[in-house]
Amino acid sequence: MTADKTLFERLNSIRAPIHIANGSEMIAIGEGDIVLDLEVNGTVNQVKLRKTLYVPDMGQSGLLSVRCIQAAGGIISFGVPEKDVVSIFHGKKLVGMARLENNAYVLQMPKREAQQAKIQSTHARLIEWHKRLGHIGFDNVKRLVDQTPGMAIDGSRTNPVCLSCVAAKQTRTPNSSPATRITTAPLQPIHSDIAGPMKTSSLGGAKYFVLFIDNFSRFTAVFTLKKKIGYYGKVLGV
Ligand SMILES: [Zn+2]
Repeated sequence: MTADKTLFERLNSIRAPIHIANGSEMIAIGEGDIVLDLEVNGTVNQVKLRKTLYVPDMGQSGLLSVRCIQAAGGIISFGVPEKDVVSIFHGKKLVGMARLENNAYVLQMPKREAQQAKIQSTHARLIEWHKRLGHIGFDNVKRLVDQTPGMAIDGSRTNPVCLSCVAAKQTRTPNSSPATRITTAPLQPIHSDIAGPMKTSSLGGAKYFVLFIDNFSRFTAVFTLKKKIGYYGKVLGV
């Protein structure tokens, strides 16, 4: 189990309580495959661990179960090749080592600097994700990041202003020219919209207003409404 979401290749949502030795409880909110870089005598082996639990409350460290390694076909040798060292074999190949530190065996992994590039590629600010993903909407960026293992937003989740998007909106041409929409008589199309609910009600208790504009005559009518549901009544004239 780990709290590092960036390690996951895929992540399924689950909800499973985990009881800890001190009697407290943490919740696993995901399960999936992770790939760990394990160091053996200066070379790095990539080892895939299946069915790893994602437990955000775990803090910095992760836990690897000896029983799970054995269940996956791994062989664990304590005290090999020396005292206070555990060697993990897959078949005859030595794939990882752990050293005893403060009463726990700690997996030997490459220094954090070596993994920095990998981390930078999966963490970015909201505006950077928005640009990398072809300027899709910020809400969609957040939805995608939240659903994708290995992606994370650094810093604020408040929607920033993208100058490129603002400029693109300002120069966009109308969808159709007004000349193609000539009307010859009243009541041909009537434009209508509803606004509300307003924070403050009118003296009559209305919270909405509806607007009708006749395209030909530009005759405009405004009605107030207490409830949105009355809109269709106004449209039908009842
Ligand atoms: Zn943009």
